[in-house]
Amino acid sequence: MKVPLLDLQAQFVDLEDELTSAVTQVLRSTWYINGPEVVGLEKEVAEYCGANHGIGVSSGTDALLVALMALDIKEGDEVLTTPYSFFATMGVILRLGARPVFADIDPVSYNIDPQKMRQALEADKDKKIKAIIPVHLYGQCADMAEILKIAAEYKLPVIEDAAQAIGAEYPFVDGNEVKWQRAGSMGVAGCFSFFPSKNLGGIGDGGMVTCQDEELAKKIELLRNHGAHPKYYHSMVGGNFRLDAIQAAALRVKLRYLDSWHKGRKANGELYNRLFAESGLIESGKVVPPAAVYKGVAGEENSASHIYNQYIIRVTDRDGLRDWLLKNEIGCEIYYPVPMHKQECLGSDADNWSMPEAEKAAAETLALPVYPELTDEMQTYVVENIKKYYQ
Ligand SMILES: *Cc1c(COP(=O)(O)O)cnc(C)c1O
Repeated sequence: MKVPLLDLQAQFVDLEDELTSAVTQVLRSTWYINGPEVVGLEKEVAEYCGANHGIGVSSGTDALLVALMALDIKEGDEVLTTPYSFFATMGVILRLGARPVFADIDPVSYNIDPQKMRQALEADKDKKIKAIIPVHLYGQCADMAEILKIAAEYKLPVIEDAAQAIGAEYPFVDGNEVKWQRAGSMGVAGCFSFFPSKNLGGIGDGGMVTCQDEELAKKIELLRNHGAHPKYYHSMVGGNFRLDAIQAAALRVKLRYLDSWHKGRKANGELYNRLFAESGLIESGKVVPPAAVYKGVAGEENSASHIYNQYIIRVTDRDGLRDWLLKNEIGCEIYYPVPMHKQECLGSDADNWSMPEAEKAAAETLALPVYPELTDEMQTYVVENIKKYYQ
């Protein structure tokens, strides 16, 4: 049996007619950049995330870049973030001439550890840190209640890197009440990617910034188009971060299916958890499955607490297992083999950091196929093969 890491073909065959007709409409309209499809998507995604505003942009990377630009992050500034993410999170900080400052991750959620964040802020005597970017990695929110509390103490804006977490919910607990809030509605801005492998993936590149504040939304909208207002008059320097109408039209079709895909991913995640528990691999310490970190007040898990953009296991002898699975035609991937603070592009600054949890995660974790169309038989086959490897 062949089990790919992701099978976009399986999704496409279900949606071919709808997607073709949506794209054809854009072709006929000849309105190819921004325009009504983009405005429609912006409204729908903002509403879906519980945000007041949505600004469609060219990619998740540009969403992060334009959000930092709107907060006037510049040369000499520092931005506090996680050492364990896709490169874009750190790349945008460096592109603006700012310096990334790291706080290590929590080993269970793989997200930035608020207490480590606090230590980094306490060590920042010259107050160079101007913003904080937590990442909701793999589809599970970072510990936002703590992060927002600490950010408020230091009067710093929080930009959520929600590229992997559209629709993921985090519980704010107030006495006996719990209010679940979606990724992108908690910080001053939320940054989303519509890269094809994300839970809501386009037919090319695309992204969105969500925010609550109208002034900030307006500024991001101007920066998206070279800061022009009115046309050909530039009071600030932006870029071309515009979203194509074809992407927006395709994404509006797909957005209607997003919750059912989340359900499928969640069910697959739970089946893996059960199969691993039954396999004895957890007991023997070979495999640590992902943990559901957040519960409601009654101890109940919310169905959207993890949207499983990736299903990540922590294993012994990770590289050996990966080679074995690939040899058996089971797709798997390392997200991410080199933590941010070890990247060569940091030059000598890389020597200043030690992030033991991120380094451990980079050496021990593996992503397994979890896409919604995956069958029970395929998952059983994956776990059987992992069991065989450790026998
Ligand atoms: C995918 C991703 C991005 C970048 O999104 P693109 O659309 O590929 O530019 C940024 N941050 C994280 C955490 C991501 O997973």
